Amino acid sequence: MTRDRHTKIVVATALWAACNVERAFVSMKPQTRFLSAVFVVGCACCAIETAPRPNVKLNEDSLHFAEELIERGHFVSDKKNTWNEHQSSAEDENEFIRQHGFAEYAKWHLGIDARHAENTKARYKFPYGDFKGVHRCALLAIKSRAHQYGDSEIENAAVHLLEMIQSEKKQTASLP
Ligand SMILES: [Zn+2]
Repeated sequence: MTRDRHTKIVVATALWAACNVERAFVSMKPQTRFLSAVFVVGCACCAIETAPRPNVKLNEDSLHFAEELIERGHFVSDKKNTWNEHQSSAEDENEFIRQHGFAEYAKWHLGIDARHAENTKARYKFPYGDFKGVHRCALLAIKSRAHQYGDSEIENAAVHLLEMIQSEKKQTASLP
């Protein structure tokens, strides 16, 4: 069962219990009342515990860097589901880090996962390009994955960059 679905079920159960508790409380024995209260509180705690919490923070620097790239025309306006083919290989990533360092590597990722140490690849999530330009296919992948994980900051950033690409394309198309 996914975490999201689990949360929904727990929340629904808690709501159901809350709606019925007033009616039921009147006819209950004191001991049953106590147990019901424990159940409701337990459900609420469980819902809070399992609610999706963003672990990955938006990297503002990388967002600005991506905006600059798009403004300068360094982007590929390609189709959905092609990121698997366009994504840099682990070897390419390692080579980029060797030549430019982790600070530059970080700029090509929209997310920072603070659970992992600096100067580890695991810390930098949601790559949006191939170290040459921004890929629309990568932004589309980021948008759906961030939505799935509840990382709304990242999702909004991806939507913003997609809109920028869209408007840059229109401007280019309208040039004489
Ligand atoms: Zn692509």
